[in-house]
Amino acid sequence: MIDSHAKVPFPTNEPVLDFAPGSPERAELKQALDAMASEEVEIPVVVKGEQRRAGEKVPVVMPHDHGHVLGYVHQASAQDVSDAIAASQEAAPAWRAMPFAERAAIFLRAAELLAGRHRAQINAACMLGQSKTCYQSEIDAVCELVDFWRYNVAFAEEIYQEQPESAPGIWNRTDHRPLEGFVFAVTPFNFLSIALNIPTAPALMGNSVLWKPANTSALGAWYGYELLREAGLPDGVISFLPGEGPVQGDAALASEHLAGLHFTGSTKTFRTLYKGIAQNLEHYRSIPRVVGETGGKDFIVAHPSADAASLATAIVRGAFEYQGQKCSAASRAYIPKSLWPSVRDDVLARTAELRVGDVRDFGNFMGAVIDKRAFDKIDGYFKLAQETAKVLTKGAPDDSKGYFIPPTVVQVDDPAHRLMKEEIFGPMISVYVYDDAKFDEVLELTDTSTPYGLTGAIFARDRAAIVKAMEKLRFAAGNFYINDKPTGAVVGQQPFGGGRASGTNDKAGSASNLLRWLSPRSIKETLVPPRDHGYPFLAKE
Ligand code: NAD
Repeated sequence: MIDSHAKVPFPTNEPVLDFAPGSPERAELKQALDAMASEEVEIPVVVKGEQRRAGEKVPVVMPHDHGHVLGYVHQASAQDVSDAIAASQEAAPAWRAMPFAERAAIFLRAAELLAGRHRAQINAACMLGQSKTCYQSEIDAVCELVDFWRYNVAFAEEIYQEQPESAPGIWNRTDHRPLEGFVFAVTPFNFLSIALNIPTAPALMGNSVLWKPANTSALGAWYGYELLREAGLPDGVISFLPGEGPVQGDAALASEHLAGLHFTGSTKTFRTLYKGIAQNLEHYRSIPRVVGETGGKDFIVAHPSADAASLATAIVRGAFEYQGQKCSAASRAYIPKSLWPSVRDDVLARTAELRVGDVRDFGNFMGAVIDKRAFDKIDGYFKLAQETAKVLTKGAPDDSKGYFIPPTVVQVDDPAHRLMKEEIFGPMISVYVYDDAKFDEVLELTDTSTPYGLTGAIFARDRAAIVKAMEKLRFAAGNFYINDKPTGAVVGQQPFGGGRASGTNDKAGSASNLLRWLSPRSIKETLVPPRDHGYPFLAKE
């Protein structure tokens, strides 16, 4: 055993490649896309290193060409989950006994593999399986994930170094133990970086994990999982259990060994899981840690002093990139009457130029929404907008080849309209135009119109207006932007997460998140213990 304390590499954000015509990364990515589109992958369940392909399987398709099957993903059964729990308990002692530097090395190696020879493969899987443009895929599946792995290692090192004071003759220490039991990691379709961070953050801290990725991101999740195995992740530390959710969820929540839930997805699913845990509470060996980052109804509020061009840019990028399927996507905007005509014309002109289609055509700004269920839900909101508000953009949803929804700007007269309150999770932004003199009332509306509290932005040049918005909207967003779109948080720079119905706000990619996966033990050692039980005050005067 090496006694020296290893200093971990200083983390920096992974540079984003731009895939400009003629660049080597563009050529490599196109090749990877062609290769992946021409094969069908059988994605297994993985328990204790064993790949299982015996059970039910569902097709994995391209959302922008839903007739094109990329492969099949096997669905984890209750028995698979139960075997994975046993495997996690078996793997736990050796994993948590492994020195931090050795665990960290696995994730640092994974980061290098991803930034290097696996880059094109993961980008191709994310583009084809989740319908991201090359840029949207690059900032998610590569850069953010590399950042998570590098920064988490650095944050973990800081945590492990934290030790208490010691009084004379006493040595106090903290033993940063992992949780006793397994962590159930449940991940959404929309970000591969999140899908892989959710299981690996607790694993880095010495926990064993059951990972249930979404079927709709199974292709990228599978390549990411294989990369972790290549980086040296031991058998049983993270099991791979794809499926729709309820079968795997019920089996995991029923186990007495459940020590934590690490979730990202919708508020509804999180509440179901939280309630499930509450119902089983007395059966668990410990009180499970519950961490969940969930939905949002993210806002842009403009003050009359806002710069119109930057506001229009933020609306277009914030609302339409990745088809509005970011938890942070701008989905409601409050614009003053004086600015509206110029902002509206600018936004509509820019939106008319956005091309929507197959992400393999690099001229497209947007791809398709993830699946039929998402398409139908967004289409429902589109029809609601047509019937009850003013749709300002052209085009209509069309799922004949892919699940395409055009970028849509809606103007509402009623700030309490459903379109201003509910999470749509598609490329639609609703705008309420207010009297310039009513900025204070609009801040109140922004704060109280929805149950969420994830992201939001204020656009203003007047500093007093910015200060007022920051104060009034203090609890309306866990990530607050001044003169910037409400999307695009960077690991190590803007730790991400929101409060209210948007989650437990444990900030993915930060030390606060990693702390949730530890159960510290305080150790006091008295170097020369007393040998007499008496105290001086007992002595006779
Ligand atoms: P979802 O809630 O439908 O699914 C999330 C995951 O939960 C999936 O893996 C799904 O299979 C699983 N699941 C569903 N029912 C389950 C059950 N009973 N037991 C166990 N697992 C179950 O969400 P989604 O559509 O994949 O993702 C979109 C949602 O995620 C949006 O609401 C978005 O705002 C949110 N999101 C939030 C953040 C954040 O950081 N706040 C980030 C990304 C996405």
